[in-house]
Amino acid sequence: GLNEKRVAAKGPLIEGVTDIIAIASGKGGVGKSTTAVNLAVALANTCQRKVGLLDADVYGPSIPTMMKVHGKPEVSEDLRMVPIENHGVKCMSIGFLVEKDAPVVWRGPMVMSALEKLTRGVGWGKLDILVVDMPPGTGDAQLSISQRLQLSGALIVSTPQDIALIDARRGANMFRKVQVPILGVIENMSCFRCPHCGENSHIFGSGGARRTADEMDMEFLGEIPLEMDIRRSSDEGSPIVIESPDSAVSKAYNDVAHKV
Ligand code: ADP
Repeated sequence: GLNEKRVAAKGPLIEGVTDIIAIASGKGGVGKSTTAVNLAVALANTCQRKVGLLDADVYGPSIPTMMKVHGKPEVSEDLRMVPIENHGVKCMSIGFLVEKDAPVVWRGPMVMSALEKLTRGVGWGKLDILVVDMPPGTGDAQLSISQRLQLSGALIVSTPQDIALIDARRGANMFRKVQVPILGVIENMSCFRCPHCGENSHIFGSGGARRTADEMDMEFLGEIPLEMDIRRSSDEGSPIVIESPDSAVSKAYNDVAHKV
């Protein structure tokens, strides 16, 4: 958990925010945002923490859809943007600042100035945890975020597929290079249970993330199956941990949240 792994000497970067944790993946499309959303909601509702969710995925912000938070944030008297709250989580997205469908080419310095607005330019209030949905990959933008946000820790999402795991390793190495503690690895899309015959299929392979975590001396935090309800509830902006709190999937997310 955070208490053992956090870099003790680092002060909070944003006033009132105790910890900032990144949800990262080496590859796009592995379920990083879905994980960030369900974890943030689980931390807020099951673990009773004060939680913010920052969508820093400059290549494809999906928090507005997944959390059903749309529109432009209001600006308060102290000229800070007011996060848009839903499902008990205060949300801010880079998607609020750019036009939908507009192509955005983000260079390192631009990412940093946008991030400055999205972090210190926001009236977050008191937060126990700010969850950051990172851009996928290990380029310039990711590196600047990891260094400048003074992360308390990072959580890595991967599917069990080899090409995803290779990139997940790269991500882990990037965080290590900048001394961000890795809280652990979550395997997403672990297994698919056929709704018709009930048989399990390991579409992206089996056990790969656990093995990678072991090999790299990282904690394995759990596995999330490939399920239609996860995709559908995300698309509807009503995360599965809210929509079906008693489902096996929600229990899996809650377990991970308790470990953070
Ligand atoms: P990333 O942030 O890594 O790009 P997303 O979280 O946006 O990935 O997920 C990519 C797509 O896969 C989304 O449409 C999402 O709803 C779907 N998805 C993610 N995880 C699961 C899952 N466990 N089961 C079913 N669909 C999933």
